[in-house]
Amino acid sequence: MTRPAPGAGPLVGAHMSAAGGLVRAVERAVDAGCRTLQVFTKSSNQWNGKPVVAGEAAAFRKAAADAGLAPLVSHSAYLINLASPDPVVRTRSVGALVDEVERCNANGIPYLVLHPGSHGGDGEEAGLDRIARGLDEAAAKSPASGTTVLLETAAGQGACLGHDFAQLAAILARSDSRPRLALCFDTCHVHAAGYDVVTRDGWGRTLEELDAACGLGLVKVIHANDSKKERGCRVDRHERIGHGTIGLKGFANLMTEPAFEKVPKILETPKDEEGKWDREGLAALRKLSRRKAAT
Ligand code: MN
Ligand code: MN
Ligand code: ZN
Repeated sequence: MTRPAPGAGPLVGAHMSAAGGLVRAVERAVDAGCRTLQVFTKSSNQWNGKPVVAGEAAAFRKAAADAGLAPLVSHSAYLINLASPDPVVRTRSVGALVDEVERCNANGIPYLVLHPGSHGGDGEEAGLDRIARGLDEAAAKSPASGTTVLLETAAGQGACLGHDFAQLAAILARSDSRPRLALCFDTCHVHAAGYDVVTRDGWGRTLEELDAACGLGLVKVIHANDSKKERGCRVDRHERIGHGTIGLKGFANLMTEPAFEKVPKILETPKDEEGKWDREGLAALRKLSRRKAAT
């Protein structure tokens, strides 16, 4: 397996398990040939993680820097729901978000991906207001944070918000902590939400719509995931690059998009034990980036 020279080629990477410690995630990323890395800094389905140990955080920062992995990205826990109808859940969510932000600061991670949240039946307007307020409360509790929170485009399952670019724009407009907010564009979710990322014209229209709503410059991280389900299904099922309903044609749009050239593209696709599927996914993205945009 030939490993690309550090710094060569497109800015691609993967979400890696931090089992055994965050330094192990760096090792896994290096093995796969990543230039960028996403991790959970704590268990993704628990409210509370172990406190960050300063020595471990320093070791992670050094390992990532030595491996040339940048930017580093963290994905926040799935339990966080700033839009919840339940005030207890909202309060816990704000606390957990502050903890995630502090973990990022300690570990030298500039970007934290967050699912906007589910309104749980209370309706879109109430949900969008709560998300904006929750973001502001969390920002007030971590005033010195250098971490940017990235609202992730959603597939639109159930009452989840953020599947429509206008919803993301509304959250940004209603929040007072806008300088600390940006976006994560997940190809599987955008496709599942109904936007066309597959055809050349559709890709152009989708990006125009995102640009008009939020500004393309706000996209700081891309999750490069193919989709098991068809466009517009509103179901979130990731597939390996080129094995799903987006296919290589869709990822050619992504990898040749000038507006996203410097934006990290991170796999969150199914893995095999040996890491072969990640290496294949990254190789597929690299190959597509060398291709001229199809017409
Ligand atoms: Mn996500
Ligand atoms: Mn994602
Ligand atoms: Zn997803």
